[in-house]
Amino acid sequence: MAFQQAHLARAFWYLLEHLDRPEEITATFTQLGRDHRKLGVRPAQYAAFETALCEALRIRAGEHCTGELEQAWVRMVRFGITAMVQGAEAALHEPPCWEATVTAHRLCGSDLAVLRVRPHETFRYRAGQYTALESACLPHTWRPYYLAGEPGRDGDLEFHVRRTGPGGVSEALVRHTTAGDRIRLGPPKGNLAIGEEPAGELHLVAWDTGWAAMKALLQELEGRLRPASEHRAGRVRLFLGADGLSSLYDTEYLTGFERSRPWLTVVPVTGGTPGEGAYDHLARAVTRSRPSAVGRALLAGPPAMVQTVTAALTRAGLPAEHVRHDPLPAGPRDLPGPTGNFGPAGPRMFQGQSVPA
Ligand SMILES: Cc1cc2nc3c(=O)[nH]c(=O)nc-3n(C[C@H](O)[C@H](O)[C@H](O)COP(=O)(O)OP(=O)(O)OC[C@H]3O[C@@H](n4cnc5c(N)ncnc54)[C@H](O)[C@@H]3O)c2cc1C
Repeated sequence: MAFQQAHLARAFWYLLEHLDRPEEITATFTQLGRDHRKLGVRPAQYAAFETALCEALRIRAGEHCTGELEQAWVRMVRFGITAMVQGAEAALHEPPCWEATVTAHRLCGSDLAVLRVRPHETFRYRAGQYTALESACLPHTWRPYYLAGEPGRDGDLEFHVRRTGPGGVSEALVRHTTAGDRIRLGPPKGNLAIGEEPAGELHLVAWDTGWAAMKALLQELEGRLRPASEHRAGRVRLFLGADGLSSLYDTEYLTGFERSRPWLTVVPVTGGTPGEGAYDHLARAVTRSRPSAVGRALLAGPPAMVQTVTAALTRAGLPAEHVRHDPLPAGPRDLPGPTGNFGPAGPRMFQGQSVPA
């Protein structure tokens, strides 16, 4: 249960760290409740959870467990659970999860696969969102992956999956999946969006498979700009970070896309000076041409990369609210996981969600 314990601990940390921002807790846990439908969670199970939590508190806190302390925990947890139940009820119009068939599986090197997947029921999402995937090889284990681009004409969705190690969902999707296999998708979610404002000056910053999110956002921008004349298009810079040139993939698509879009500049960022972290190198490239204070930046990639680039951009004068990314794991960064990889992310590795799935 170590894996689930680590996820649960993250959820508690999230609650503790956001107690002064109840509206954020409500938004996150409403989404979490919608998401938990795919796991078959029912309201009655939350009551059992609360009883178990109080018992665990009494056992672990021993003499320090006062009635007041227990009540404080119960109030905090009930606040989250109420939002989860509301989220689940509000999502009753959609399936708890989407059955889908893999229609294509293309390996780009030994550790990365581009999958095309056809959901059996309509799956609606916005550009920049991600969804949890479950492979038939690993039932009940869900991991988030960005949806790359708009759905194809046949309704196919595209995912880019980098294998991070043995035994996980990424390995199942990269090495043990082929066309014709079934997978399941959770509901779409995510914070990355172009927004309603005019495109303005926009920095898109991705590391490795974070490109999938940017591919979707670029396609959306393209759709918005098409009716407008060229000179009205805002300037868009895409910074694409990777360990080395050989880690960059989908380059043919990107080169073709950039060639006929004068509003777009693509900056691949690989390597770096000796001693400099790969993410610092990317951050330096991004801040060298940071958007003006009215510009915006959208980031997708491992939490450590997102933290490094966000810090660099805000230090360089971009208001924090102009930098958008998906939630980062809550709590102390050295929270141990079963495989020891819940700590600071190394290059190429995304970490799990900020809250349990
Ligand atoms: C918002 C977001 C978007 C992302 N988008 C992408 C993307 O587009 N492309 C991409 O490649 N990655 C993406 N990721 C990362 C992705 O979600 C996974 O974290 C990554 O693929 C590694 O998952 P994994 O299961 O292979 O490895 P891990 O999560 O590191 O798991 C590794 C080990 O844990 C064990 N394990 C896993 N589940 C359980 C369990 N329930 N019980 C016990 N043991 C378990 C496995 O056996 C395995 O050995 C994204 C992450 C986030 C947060």
